Amino acid sequence: MTSTTAFWLAGRQATGETAFDVTSPWDGHTVGTVSVPTDAQVEDAVFAAHAVREDFAATPAHIRAAALDHVSRRLVERTEEIARLISAENGKPVKWARGEVGRAVSVFRFAAEEARRFNGGEAQRLDTDAGGQGRLALTRRFPKGVVLGIAPFNFPLNLCAHKIAPAIAAGAPIILKPAPATPLSGLILGELLAETELPAGSWSILPVPNDRMPALVQDERLPVISFTGSERVGYAIMDSVPRKHCTLELGGNGAAVVLADFASDEDLDRAAQRIATFSNYQGGQSCISVQRVIADASVYDRLLPRIVAAVEAQVTGDPNDEATDVGPLISEAAAQRVEAWVDEAVAAGATLLTGGKRDGASYAPTVLTDVPAEATISCEEVFGPVLTVRKVDGEAAAFAAVNDSKYGLQAGVFTHDLQTAFRAHRALEVGGVVIGDVPSYRADQMPYGGAKQSGVGREGVKFAMDDYTYERVMVLTGL
Ligand code: NAD
Repeated sequence: MTSTTAFWLAGRQATGETAFDVTSPWDGHTVGTVSVPTDAQVEDAVFAAHAVREDFAATPAHIRAAALDHVSRRLVERTEEIARLISAENGKPVKWARGEVGRAVSVFRFAAEEARRFNGGEAQRLDTDAGGQGRLALTRRFPKGVVLGIAPFNFPLNLCAHKIAPAIAAGAPIILKPAPATPLSGLILGELLAETELPAGSWSILPVPNDRMPALVQDERLPVISFTGSERVGYAIMDSVPRKHCTLELGGNGAAVVLADFASDEDLDRAAQRIATFSNYQGGQSCISVQRVIADASVYDRLLPRIVAAVEAQVTGDPNDEATDVGPLISEAAAQRVEAWVDEAVAAGATLLTGGKRDGASYAPTVLTDVPAEATISCEEVFGPVLTVRKVDGEAAAFAAVNDSKYGLQAGVFTHDLQTAFRAHRALEVGGVVIGDVPSYRADQMPYGGAKQSGVGREGVKFAMDDYTYERVMVLTGL
């Protein structure tokens, strides 16, 4: 029997009147039961965060940094246990789950470092103009107010870390809402934060049901919303609160381009291996998964069989098994949607080279070619282990194909040529261009976010801190 997991209200454990079960997408067992906060408890958390905001902003940097360092160290100590939990509730193979814990360790460490150096401010002389004679401007950044952080299911620990760690580093209180399918990994951060000296109201982790989220989104005491999730929900939130500051980290249909100069056997083996791994890791449920391969005609015929072989070599199955590369999707419904999109593409003329089979919540790693441009799988984010491969003539056509998407999160370009790299950086309408690798590379300190409908604003610890704060100038007169 599993006991009910409490949520975190103003830094303390609390339980509500109802609870819901979290089930494994792999075998359906109950991973845990999570208590749901009542409306009154949500109000208590918001009230406490709002009340503490000035004190929290003034909390010395060394105290906030020490708390963040503590969480980072404790994540290291508890890596195996937390990785098993992520794997159980999300279905992610345990080896990838360990990698996710490692990334959250870094996020808290980067946040501790940024807390120590952030907000040094700068002095600006104003006497460069006659009207500014005898005056000096001092600038510092201050929190905009309490942050409402909303996280998705696919990196249930690290994307919670990306909300909460920069908020603490910047001195902004935060109400964090983990995803309903995977709340346990986010709630475990509360255990580690509760071991610190952070002021009680400065953080809460509340698994509020989706149908009660609009009230929280509308609450004027929460002026900053940092959302990671689907395009549909993200834009609905932003449209409902046009005067709030919203950061939206949304979907993508990441492209990997393989250009003519990336042509040796060794090059193509490497490109195929990276593409196969990162179209399938976490079952393709990453916003920067490889969904589209765009290959120059001169390498296409040698690349395609390598990709198919590397995809077929992916080990599917039990996420608890160390050898498993690809586990189930988050739910059977998610796998059914992927199946429907592949079937639709095949019915419209696409060629299925491997995969195309569903077993419950699991979908086999799949490669398609000849996919019509108007097929759903060409236009939308598949969020499953499916790759489309397309042949183009030359670099300009390849870059145009990447840009032929409503999304623009990241793109990967396999080339050895520096000039080409700079042209790609200039031409591709995405938030990040990865040269020599797949679009799926993310370092947690670098600016990360989308162009076009992949989102608004940037994460990456320092960049999230910029987002949560604003510059306030003080003008000194009579100098
Ligand atoms: P989702 O949009 O269904 O849910 C995201 C979060 O929003 C969850 O916590 C959910 O409970 C909450 N939510 C749902 N309805 C809400 C409402 N009305 N008001 C407020 N919150 C609400 O997304 P998901 O299925 O959990 O995650 C998958 C999506 O996330 C994919 O599109 C993926 O590309 C995207 N994603 C983006 C990034 C990025 O950094 N760009 C990273 C990971 C995932």
